[in-house]
Amino acid sequence: MLQSSPPHESQWSPAVPTQRSSKDLAGPWHSEAACRRDEAGLFFAPSQEPTAARLSREQAAKSVCARCPVLLECREHALLQPEPYGVWGGLTAAERRVVLSRRRRRDAAAGGRPADISRIA
Ligand code: SF4
Repeated sequence: MLQSSPPHESQWSPAVPTQRSSKDLAGPWHSEAACRRDEAGLFFAPSQEPTAARLSREQAAKSVCARCPVLLECREHALLQPEPYGVWGGLTAAERRVVLSRRRRRDAAAGGRPADISRIA
């Protein structure tokens, strides 16, 4: 069981995806998150945020993610959950939808077998 709450925890879903194994649950990725030390407001949009402000905020959030030691773990969490809002693992919600769509196409092309996710951004 995790000792602390995850970074910028979404109110929409549990902190830990059900798809993660018990080995993953013991992992330290939440406690190592760079965003634990940064303004949580960077990662989720306030209501009615103008486009220019959103782009600027998302870029700032991504710059935090870029130096995060658990970027890949966070990204997989957000893709598997899936997290519908916010920047997770250096990707916006729209970017995650693109990655998931690519994965579904690759899975379909592979005859329904899940693609090797370690080879997909
Ligand atoms: S990758 Fe980004 S959103 Fe995920 S834990 Fe790290 S800083 Fe937070």
